[in-house]
Amino acid sequence: MNEHVDGRHRKAKAKARIERPSRAEAEAAVRTLIRWAGDEPDREGLDGTPARVVRAYEEWFAGYGEDPAELLQRTFEEAGGYDEIVLLRDIRFESHCEHHMAPIIGRAHIGYLPRNRVVGISKLARLVEVYAKRLQIQEKLTAEVASCLDAVLKPHGVAVVAEATHQCMTTRGVHKTGVSMVTSRMLGVFRDHAETRQEFLSAIGMRGGVASTNGSV
Ligand SMILES: [Zn+2]
Repeated sequence: MNEHVDGRHRKAKAKARIERPSRAEAEAAVRTLIRWAGDEPDREGLDGTPARVVRAYEEWFAGYGEDPAELLQRTFEEAGGYDEIVLLRDIRFESHCEHHMAPIIGRAHIGYLPRNRVVGISKLARLVEVYAKRLQIQEKLTAEVASCLDAVLKPHGVAVVAEATHQCMTTRGVHKTGVSMVTSRMLGVFRDHAETRQEFLSAIGMRGGVASTNGSV
């Protein structure tokens, strides 16, 4: 009986993950897009392209196979009395916008004020990567990183700022080059105390103005 319940539970979990097509189906879809672009998928130069694109997708979207909360849960340590802001800046990330599947390339800055748990800096970078390697909008990516840290480490506060350029804006549509989008998510003391927020923003080289984007995400 228990096994039956477990089986159902696993099924429900798998369902939430989405049923993936086969590799051959994914490659056929790339061939369709090549024809849509106006080229002939069978010509010599494009011979291995569908297989390469499908493999590239496995890297670009590897974040679906990982559970970010579990990643942090596995690795946190006791803070040992440390009660200042922990800050990691300039975490480069590569993501893809969910509207055009075009690259979003940028940097994230993360700060938190530990209550009693801390996590290694490489894990903060991995956290950004797991969320970035999914179809995203920058606002959601920023908010997800902040909420996950908040939920697992239960710190006094979390601050996340992301700056990125969106290739759907620079290479098509309005063709705006040199524009970057800044999003931020402030939780706990970073939201409630201007001084703490300011300390974080100065440390990442930004003026206080960016905090006004907080409300929208
Ligand atoms: Zn887009």
